[in-house]
Amino acid sequence: MASACLFCRIIAGEIPSSCVYSDEDVYAFNDINPVAPRHILVIPKKHLNNVAAADADDEALLGRLILKASQIAAAEGLAGSGFRYVINTGHDGGQTVHHLHLHILGGRQMSWPPG
Ligand code: 5GP
Ligand code: ZN
Repeated sequence: MASACLFCRIIAGEIPSSCVYSDEDVYAFNDINPVAPRHILVIPKKHLNNVAAADADDEALLGRLILKASQIAAAEGLAGSGFRYVINTGHDGGQTVHHLHLHILGGRQMSWPPG
């Protein structure tokens, strides 16, 4: 059955994306509208609306997502200079795509607090 979720459709290859990494559980691809020189989205292949929708069964998957993101950041040459992870969640979090995703942002100095 065709999925209505944008990122599920990207995982399925129905919508093209610039793949950075893929395995059984995790898919990573370049953000279409980068806000930093490196801007990669890391997502679970399993659909979860956001991190607040994860439950105890997803504990290992969430761990894999972050560990994979760290390996991707290192492979992208960001380990030395540093980087930022962002997981926007829900309305106030600024989430616009309702499939859990971790942003890797790098290649420039980040500011704080976020907007
Ligand atoms: P959010 O605002 O939900 O945290 O982040 C969603 C991200 O998905 C945004 O940074 C946006 O640029 C990105 N995005 C939205 N549609 C597409 C798409 O079709 N392809 C890719 N590669 N990124 C997308
Ligand atoms: Zn989805």
